[in-house]
Order: sequence, then structure tokens, then C-alpha cells
Amino acid sequence: MPIATTSPVTGDVLKTFDALTEEQIDGAIGRSVTGFRELRGTTFAQRAAWMRAAADLLDAERDDVGALMTREMGKTLTAAKAEAAKCARACRFYADNAERFLADEPVEASDVDASAAYGRYQPLGPVLAVMPWNFPLWQAMRFAAPALMAGNTGLLKHASNVPQTALYLGDLFRRAGFPAGAFQTLLVGSDAVERILSDPRVRAATLTGSEAAGRSIAAIAGRELKKTVLELGGSDPYIVMPSADIERAAEVATTARCQNNGQSCIAAKRFIVHADVYDAFVEAFVARMAALTVGDPMDDATDVGPLATEQGRDDVAGQVDDAAAKGATIRCGGEAPKQAGWWYPPTVVTGITPAMRMYAEEVFGPVAGVYRVGSVDEAIDLANATTFGLGANAWTADPGERQRFVTELEAGAVFVDGMVTSYPQLPFGGVKDSGYGRELSAAGIREFCNLKTVWIG
Ligand code: NAP
Repeated sequence: MPIATTSPVTGDVLKTFDALTEEQIDGAIGRSVTGFRELRGTTFAQRAAWMRAAADLLDAERDDVGALMTREMGKTLTAAKAEAAKCARACRFYADNAERFLADEPVEASDVDASAAYGRYQPLGPVLAVMPWNFPLWQAMRFAAPALMAGNTGLLKHASNVPQTALYLGDLFRRAGFPAGAFQTLLVGSDAVERILSDPRVRAATLTGSEAAGRSIAAIAGRELKKTVLELGGSDPYIVMPSADIERAAEVATTARCQNNGQSCIAAKRFIVHADVYDAFVEAFVARMAALTVGDPMDDATDVGPLATEQGRDDVAGQVDDAAAKGATIRCGGEAPKQAGWWYPPTVVTGITPAMRMYAEEVFGPVAGVYRVGSVDEAIDLANATTFGLGANAWTADPGERQRFVTELEAGAVFVDGMVTSYPQLPFGGVKDSGYGRELSAAGIREFCNLKTVWIG
């Protein structure tokens, strides 16, 4: 993939970039090591001051960096500005809490024949972060804020279609005061990842992206014996039971499916609805999906902009066409408009069978598959009938059903009567083919730390 900003609205290439040379990559890794030596010697208070300065810059530059993201990958400007604000909140969250999350963990010294014994969290060193374009600021920040507060340094290999947002991030932490090597953006293609991760100076890697990229990075990291965190794809269920508030469930379902133009790992993708409320839910949901405004993402009135890439649009169109050809019913949308740019309308598909691609594959666009089930058992079985296990949504007022969903859904997160979303305070990650490890919360900052056992006799 060329490293370039290409407008999803028109398909025009706006700016291209050269990939770093081998010599430049080598220099950046060297600076990351130097930066690590410097950073690990600083206090939490110093790093927190720099992190708060980064948050202040994000707040002050929200409109500009928001517009940049919109130009590069087509999310609505409203969503882009909200993303920048969320990043500032995450910076402040880790500035406020990192020291507490990484405090020594004492044990009863006499139990282990010591005069003192405890666990101490220490940073690992340079960490490679391979990131996707869909939340170009937020995905990178989820790694960067805790990593830097722990004293690690970051090497960001961002998606090739968001190079300007990537450069903004590298610049942001330097302007906030962090040492030069603390966080660097490497403009490289995915073919450079193996070389960087194999470098003995790089101690670990995190990837947010597709399952294929995850398997590749995990294989390299396995060979090199390096720690990884993988945040991969998802096909989250959205279960609606008879006791749910159907109008509210349909309203939130529309946002849960179409946020970020339908390109979110934790978007609800499979709508599993009890037969008793199926017709009412489908009617309300289709009406809302069909009423969304598709258009210029810079326009405040727009709900859904274009998809980020031509390939992404073609993949979604191919999945819907496959379902239609095999007998599914398209309730709304279902056809890409014949115009420049990578548009796809909000679409609802019913009558999906296991023979259709949509049944098993992640659909990364504003396309909802709706399934009818007859019982809570059937809902849970269908929700779990996927290789993914990222998030799960369940709508029910029944306490017994709530407990069953919380306990039995195979997912990294279960949200009851609401849509799956990420908060700095809550752990985020998946099970099964959605990956492993956790970001955010105390768990996220500890992922790239050595929990050192200290025993003093
Ligand atoms: P992708 O193709 O895997 O790209 C993500 C990043 O990985 C990019 O920087 C890409 O670089 C790089 N990459 C791609 N193939 C690689 C390989 N073989 N080796 C090393 N690096 C590689 O993902 P995408 O299709 O753009 O993004 C959408 C996917 O990300 C979806 O599956 C979505 O669910 C998932 N996602 C997951 C989460 C989560 O938190 N679990 C969050 C957001 C998105 P290039 O751009 O240079 O190819």
C-alpha cells in the first residue's frame, strides 16, 4: 500500500510520502533506546506534566486535527473532534493514575521468609505499535498514554492511509516536552514490520488491526520471544429480548452499527432478535437506518460519510451481494451509488444463512445482519457461533437473562442495555480470534511492564 493521503470523498490522491530508508529506521530505533534510558529515569510527576501538556495541545488543536482525520479517512468531523477530546481525557487519566497503577505490590514478608518482599513494575523499553486507520488518533493513544507514563518508548507504524495523522502524533509528544526519542512515527509499509520487530533493541509489540496482520506479527514475535498485545477484528452480537425497550434498542442499534461509518471493531454487526419482538425491532431499526444522512463528512448534518478505502467499500459490497445472491433480503440500502469516492449506504439484511459470507465474516461498513431466535439459549448459541470474541451487547430487563449473558457470552466485554464502547477506566480487549491482552485501565499500563519480584532477606 503506498503511504499517502487519499480522499475517500473523491478518490483523489492528496499527498504522498516516501517510506523511511533502512538507515532512517535504524536511527529511529537507536533514538528510541536513548529515549528509553532518559525516560525511565524521570519521575511519574514529570511524565504526568508532559502528558497533561499533550492533553492541552489536543484540546487546543481539536478542530484542526479533527479535520485532518476527516480528510484522511472520511469519518465525520463531529466524530473526529470527539475522538481528539477522548484522547485528551485518556492522557489525563493516565497522568492522574499511572503512579497508583504501577505502585509496588507488597506481600506478607514473613510468609516468604523475607524481611521485605514485593512486586515492582518496570518498563520494558522500545515498543513497536502497529495501528489501524479507523480511529487514527484514539487507537494510537490507547497505547501511547499508558506506555509513556510507564516509562516505555513508542515506535508508531501507523496505517499507510493516515500518514499525516501519524506525523501529528509523533510531533505531539515532542511538543508536549517528552524527550526526542520517547515517541516516534515511522512512515513505513507493513513490509518493514518484520525487520523492526526482529531488531533486538525493540522489546515488544502491540497491534490493532486485522486477524491476518495479528497472525503475522504474533508469528514473528513468537520466533523472537517478544511480548505482544493483539487487538483484532470483531463481529459483535447485539441481542434483543422481549423485555427490552424496543424503540431505545433500535435507536442505539443504529449508532452501534453506523458509528465511524460502520468501521469500528466493536460495532454491533449481528443483530440477534427474539421472535416475539422481531417484527417490531426490524421495523424500527430499518426506519432509522434508512433515515440516516449520508454525505460530506465535513458537514455537521452528516451521519455517515464514505468508507475509508476503495478496497474496504468493495469488500462490504461483495459481502452484501453474496448474501443477496444466496437468498437474503435487503431491507434498506444494499447498493453502492455510482459516483466518485467510496460510498456505501446504511443497509439492513435479513434471512442470513451459514452459507453466506456475512454469517462468519466481519462486515466493516454500515451493514447490519439481523437474525431471528426463539429463546435465550438460541440467542447465546448464535452469539457465540463466531470465531471472534471482542464485545457483546444484550438488551433485556430480565435479571436472570442478564446474568446468563454476562456469564455465557464469549467476549472481552459485555454491555447490557447499552452499546459497547471504550473508556480509559475499563479494560479493553478480546478473546478467541479477536486477540489477547488488554488495553486501557490498570491492566493496559501493566501489559508492557516487567513485574519484578523483589525479595530482601
Ligand atoms: P490491517 O490491514 O490489519 O491494518 C492495520 C495495521 O497493520 C496497519 O498499520 C497495516 O499497515 C498493518 N499491517 C497490515 N498487514 C500487516 C502484516 N501482514 N504485517 C504487519 N503489519 C500489517 O487492518 P485494517 O483492515 O486496516 O483495519 C481494520 C481491522 O482492524 C478490522 O478487522 C478491525 O476490526 C480491526 N480493529 C480492531 C480493533 C480492536 O481494538 N480490537 C480496533 C480497531 C480496528 P498498512 O496500512 O501499511 O497495510
